[in-house]
Amino acid sequence: MTARVLVVDDHVSNVKLLEARLNAEYFDVLTADNGPEALAICASGECDIVLLDVMMPGMNGFEVCRRLKANPDTAHIPVVMVSALDQASDRVMGLEAGADDFLAKPIDETALLARVKSLSRLRAALDELRARAARAAKMGVSASSCLVGGEDEGGRILLVDDRRSSSEAILGALRAHHEVELEPDALEALVEGAAGGYDLFIVSLTLAGYDGLRLCSQIRSIEATRQIPILAVADADDLARTLRGLEFGVNDYLLRPIERSELAARVRTQMRRKRYADCLRQNVEASLEMAVVDALTGLHNRRFFDGVLPSMMEEAKRKARPLSVMMFDIDRFKGVNDAYGHEAGDRLLQGLSRRIKGLIRRSDIFCRLSGDEFVILMPDTRIDVGAKVAERVRSGVAGAGFPIDATRLVAATVSIGLAESGRAGGDLLREADKALYRCKEGGRNRVYFDPGPKTPAQAPGFRVVRAG
Ligand code: GH3
Ligand code: MG
Repeated sequence: MTARVLVVDDHVSNVKLLEARLNAEYFDVLTADNGPEALAICASGECDIVLLDVMMPGMNGFEVCRRLKANPDTAHIPVVMVSALDQASDRVMGLEAGADDFLAKPIDETALLARVKSLSRLRAALDELRARAARAAKMGVSASSCLVGGEDEGGRILLVDDRRSSSEAILGALRAHHEVELEPDALEALVEGAAGGYDLFIVSLTLAGYDGLRLCSQIRSIEATRQIPILAVADADDLARTLRGLEFGVNDYLLRPIERSELAARVRTQMRRKRYADCLRQNVEASLEMAVVDALTGLHNRRFFDGVLPSMMEEAKRKARPLSVMMFDIDRFKGVNDAYGHEAGDRLLQGLSRRIKGLIRRSDIFCRLSGDEFVILMPDTRIDVGAKVAERVRSGVAGAGFPIDATRLVAATVSIGLAESGRAGGDLLREADKALYRCKEGGRNRVYFDPGPKTPAQAPGFRVVRAG
């Protein structure tokens, strides 16, 4: 994967060095020698990742990073701070300013490239999610606005570590702000992790009986845990192995001895990112749901019905199973709107949908096609059985009124047409609609279906199951 990397450093020689290394890996490199110029390039959307020197005249790297993260247009751009300063307190300051990582000069080339590659993958995944969430917002989903720098405390963390000194240091650093559970056994951790609810895994790469990297790759490949960030903890002489982890989805790492404030800062970064991604994902899911759910009744909508009908008919045919459809329409519904107002009409549509839902099987697919017209798809159901369900629906609606406000009920009836896949030529819905039309002609509040050629005694014509 390639990406556009902005290298910011006031020393030309440093810029040239980094540029050459990144070019060799096919990254596109842009350069800036001061903070304001870097901010302008980021704001114009020209770069995907920033490598930022700390010590620069004028505006230093910490300040540039803070400004990038405070601007909603640039807050999502990953920032790696690069500095000759290498005290833990400097790293923490960089992370606190919102940086995604802090690398010491002279730069370890492998560490730099591993980090840039992993951040560009993360960036691409988040970009995709953000674009989908933006499309969702355009569709009118009442999307909650997602903040890159949102809440970063109160997370649930699973710590997989079997070394007492190490786990105690980690627990000590995090317990005040997060809920941390310790699991020394790798396989147990996989089971617990998949059971759900975690915001972060912290995995020791030095487990006695299990390869910690393997555990990380398993966490990435299991559906239930693939989105949960991983922070690896390793010994200082194990950097090469730790960097391999970044290649297959470890999000960040920390080398022992563990510096408490740095650990806390790195965990906060992961929490913020996870919550940002969760928020985007929820908006996308809401939009997918909105696309197939009718807002007034909560039933499936026409789009869903049109999508699902061909595949259900195909499946019924393949398995030689019956599939019946019931199409119904409220009788003289316009009269309710005219007499009591549109809002009362809406209340009736809601109450009627709710009541009918309680009269059909969970496996039936209940959709509102338009206005006062509904359809119920009944898999594994022959038309004579479907007619019994339809009669239950008809009498259930007619049997009691529906509240239209705090004090008043309004009576309603429905007309129901039925058809069965296989019997009904090609167009199941058209057959049901024809039956419904005959219902209306016949006086409403009734159920009709074409008895078909199999029962010549009753053919031709439509059969009244029950007239109201
Ligand atoms: P019929 O027995 O022949 O079906 O008579 P009807 O009055 O129900 O038939 P018609 O199709 O003429 O009327 C349907 C009405 O449904 C017309 C329209 O104003 C109303 N309607 C459509 N969608 C909604 C809605 O979402 N809310 C409300 N309150 N009314 C709606
Ligand atoms: Mg109607």
